This record gives sequence, C-alpha cells and structure tokens, in this order.
Amino acid sequence: MHFHDTHFHLDLMKDPEAVVQQIESNKCYTIAVTNSPSVFFYSKRLSLDTKYLRAALGFHPELVAERYQELPKYLDLLPQTRYIGEVGLDNYQKTTADFHKQLVVFKKIIESCRTSGDKIITIHSRKAEKEVLQIIGPNFPGKIILHWYSGPLKLLDTALNYGYYFSVNKRMLNSQNGRKILQKLPVDRILLESDAPFTLSPNQKYHSILFQEMVSELASLKDFAPNEMFIYLNKNFKRLIETIK
Ligand SMILES: [Zn+2]
Repeated sequence: MHFHDTHFHLDLMKDPEAVVQQIESNKCYTIAVTNSPSVFFYSKRLSLDTKYLRAALGFHPELVAERYQELPKYLDLLPQTRYIGEVGLDNYQKTTADFHKQLVVFKKIIESCRTSGDKIITIHSRKAEKEVLQIIGPNFPGKIILHWYSGPLKLLDTALNYGYYFSVNKRMLNSQNGRKILQKLPVDRILLESDAPFTLSPNQKYHSILFQEMVSELASLKDFAPNEMFIYLNKNFKRLIETIK
C-alpha cells in the first residue's frame, strides 16, 4: 500500500533524517512543507536522492508579520520547486496590521505562482477562508489544496467549483466540525495529510498506522469499503501530481 501525506512538517520532527528513511521504506509519497524560506534548503537537502519525498517552499501566515523582510528571498526561490506550502492566511486573534501584511505576502505568492503555473500549493486558511478563495479564485493554473479546512460549510461549494482539493488529518476526522465538512466533500477531492508533529498526541508515532486508520475512518464516514476508499485517495493523489499540459 502506498499512502501519501500532502502536508507534513519534516523539519519540526525530532529526528528528521530517521523519518526520511521511514518515508522511503514505507513508500509514502510525502510533501514536506516548510514555514519560512530559510528552512527550505534544509528540507530540500533531505529530499535529494529520495523517491518519495518532496520539499515545499513555505511562508507560514503566522510568521509573516515577524519575517516580512524574507518575502524577496521567498520569491527568488519560487522557481526552484513545484511544491508550495505552508502558505495562506490566518486571522485568528491577529491584529489588523498583522493580517494586512499576510494579505500582501499571500497575494504576491499567489500572483507569482499563477505566472509560473503548475504549482501544487498547500494552504492554511484559518478564519480567513473567504479571503483565501477570493485571492486564488477560479481557473488557477496549478493545484490548490486547502489543508485542514475548518471554515464555513457554505464556502465548500465555491472551493469545489474552483477545483480545489481538501487534505484531511486525524484531528479533523475526530472532530464534529471536521466530520461535517468531510461529509459534504466528494470523494474525488479528498487527500491525506498528517500535519505532524502538530496533530500527534505524546505517544503517537508518525506513520503507516496513522494513515491506515485515516483511510478506514474516512471509509466508514463516506460509506465505502476501506480498499475502495484507498483506491479513490490514490487516484486523487495521482491526479494532483500529474503535470498540466
Ligand atoms: Zn501545517
């Protein structure tokens, strides 16, 4: 079984190099997101010579205010990878000035990705889902993944019409709001993510069991057999990474 993990903070794990070995031996296609451009090289280096790991260039919305000056560096690095994230907006208990900076940075990133085309972007949208949808809009020339979406149900149709994917983690499956969202999503738009280490409880280990559990929980929620669900998820991931011509 080949699982996939479209949102994983490899650089924040205790022993990233050991985790890379694990990813390779588990044959789990993994997108290692980063939180600021200065960490990208570290993850990029770890991903060299691997078959299953890809490093994504990120600028976490909650770090934007403090690292605003890293934007030019970020944009310079953009052509080096097809994978982008974690980027987005976060308006949970933020000041107006902070959120304004986030808007400037996010718009700039999306604009650059639109120009280069064919990027795969994993997006954080807490309490700013509407703004995220407005900025990206329909017809984006790449793939959009809304990671751990927790926003209003009424925006789901718009995001689906725009062609976006949704990545799901264990916490989302265990929450009432998360399950409501998942119930509304068509199976051909769902992807798996761990968002580890953030989602892990103290004794929980990152890997394969976590994904197996997610597939079975999703299957029962969506009323599919686990292997059927697994086939859907695999197809979605393949469609995600296909190059757009
Ligand atoms: Zn994350």
